[in-house]
Amino acid sequence: MHIEVRGLNKSFGDFNAVKDVSFDIEKGKLIGLLGPSGGGKTSILRMLAGLETPTSGDIVFHGQRVNDLPPQERGIGFVFQNYALFKHMTVYDNVAFGLKVKKLSKEKIRERVMYLIELTGLKGFEHRYPHQLSGGQRQRVAFARALAPEPQLLLLDEPFAAIDAKIRTELRTWLKEMIERVGITSIFVTHDQEEAIEVADEIMIISKGRLEQKGSPWDIYKNPETPFVASFIGESTIVEDISILKGFESLSDQPGTKALIRPEYIEHGKPGEIKLASAATTATVRQLHFRGSEWMVELAIGDTKLITYRSLEREVLQVGGQVQVLVHRAYMFNDDDSWIMENP
Ligand code: ATP
Repeated sequence: MHIEVRGLNKSFGDFNAVKDVSFDIEKGKLIGLLGPSGGGKTSILRMLAGLETPTSGDIVFHGQRVNDLPPQERGIGFVFQNYALFKHMTVYDNVAFGLKVKKLSKEKIRERVMYLIELTGLKGFEHRYPHQLSGGQRQRVAFARALAPEPQLLLLDEPFAAIDAKIRTELRTWLKEMIERVGITSIFVTHDQEEAIEVADEIMIISKGRLEQKGSPWDIYKNPETPFVASFIGESTIVEDISILKGFESLSDQPGTKALIRPEYIEHGKPGEIKLASAATTATVRQLHFRGSEWMVELAIGDTKLITYRSLEREVLQVGGQVQVLVHRAYMFNDDDSWIMENP
């Protein structure tokens, strides 16, 4: 289902939780709503669902304005963070619930439920109750139940939040594959950037009620439109005074110039180890964090901290030791967070 949202606003009393949000979602896409807590993600999801009335703006599904349609007439499936399964019903009955409401025949219901149980890898669990399942299995039941009435749009509110880390990673990949297979337009809310980057076809960054940027994870990472987006997606350091870095001194006559630097823009090594050493700045190794496949290296130039990485194959640096640092790229912005330039 194609989705159009125009000038969406939501106020609670005199607090504006969602401010002039507009976007389009193509049929079949998996969209991640990402942003800090309290930014308005859930409010947007709830307005799409019809659980919350917009203060103003239009919500259009497949060419039809749905603002005045109740949730059950919008063709939507839901998956919540806390499963929200019926505790006193078996897996089978949970999945069948939406179909019974639709008054389908017993055979039709059975056919659809068994198809979904197979699709979601729950065969053999039909007669179990929710408390006899793991968190991951419960969430798969929730997914099967949401898909049963063949919705046109699937809304997922922090679907992985209550699941432990290892299963969460598996479940993410599983969900992405499942959604692709079913071909349903889906929107999920998360505050976990890794999750959004890994799962979503497109990410919408929501902060303070506004849509900051919408695009593919790669596009948002490479071309952030605001400093907020740049710092929210991926690892980065903000350098308050860019003139401490060689090659950037010419910018020191613009007071208030800050720079955002990603780890991969930084080349570092012992003197003699890096090219163009004459253009490099000397830094001290402040901390080394073992990350499994690499070290996360915290460097200091005076009071300024820089985060970067170093692969395990290379000789391990010593805390307190000196290295040469070369910064290849930075995003520059003013005190008021407006961009100055990129790639000076
Ligand atoms: P989280 O990630 O913490 O769930 P969110 O981005 O989903 O946050 P929302 O739940 O949409 O944010 O909330 C946005 C803002 O609106 C918050 O400041 C919240 O306190 C406020 N808000 C949400 N629902 C109501 C309500 N029913 N009454 C008053 N304020 C509300």
